[in-house]
Amino acid sequence: MSATLLSTHGLTAHYGDFQALYGIDLSLASGQLLAIIGANGAGKSTCLRSLAGLMPTQRQQIVFEGEPIGDLPAHKVLERGIALVPEGRRLFPSLSVEENLLVGAHARRSGPWNLARVYGLFPALKERRQTPATTLSGGQQQMVAIGRALMSNPKVLLCDELSLGLAPIVVRDIYAGLPAIREEGVAVVIVEQDIGQALQVADQVVCLLEGRVALTGEPDALTREQISQAYFGV
Ligand code: ATP
Repeated sequence: MSATLLSTHGLTAHYGDFQALYGIDLSLASGQLLAIIGANGAGKSTCLRSLAGLMPTQRQQIVFEGEPIGDLPAHKVLERGIALVPEGRRLFPSLSVEENLLVGAHARRSGPWNLARVYGLFPALKERRQTPATTLSGGQQQMVAIGRALMSNPKVLLCDELSLGLAPIVVRDIYAGLPAIREEGVAVVIVEQDIGQALQVADQVVCLLEGRVALTGEPDALTREQISQAYFGV
């Protein structure tokens, strides 16, 4: 069993008076892929946002490389090596593909990822590197968003809804990039609505239901019945 890289301990999250997460415990090792599944509003994005330093969180509730980091702001979390591919991609519309990728290098962490490696992973981006990023297809924009996060040379890549709104063939191309990312020792957390996709790629699955962990385990060890019960809460 590999050492824990990132873990949460009774993670809670609030939007004003509304509590979105009620004590989430997660654990992730280097190179591992954890999929967070769950119905709309279950708290998946909130969980990723908390890990990325975008939600007010108690210090002890998130531990990275043995140190509590729950109280760090997003830019410090990124500097430590946790990068987010946000829902909706959030590319800079006035910047080219290459400029968007270079924004990701601002964290100035050393490591294997640079423009050449990102273009090697997603060759379609190289041909369009001078093009405004938002004129690309949805799938290519998603590749830019992943590439931008990789440019910070993260130890953990957090991906929110990679397949949302994309055609299955495009989703396949995007998911085809994950093994190369993991080979570099990068741990990946994906939030995924497509349960089949999540089960196919994950080492470990966590199903959230109304802000709580309803089920956790390795995909092969979970039955369809267990998953649908945890997903729908019936
Ligand atoms: P989805 O797949 O719909 O994005 P999710 O599982 O990612 O769902 P979250 O987006 O984390 O769920 O939302 C969890 C809960 O927090 C929901 O009840 C949602 O309405 C609420 N919520 C999310 N963002 C905000 C916000 N900015 N302000 C208030 N409540 C929010």
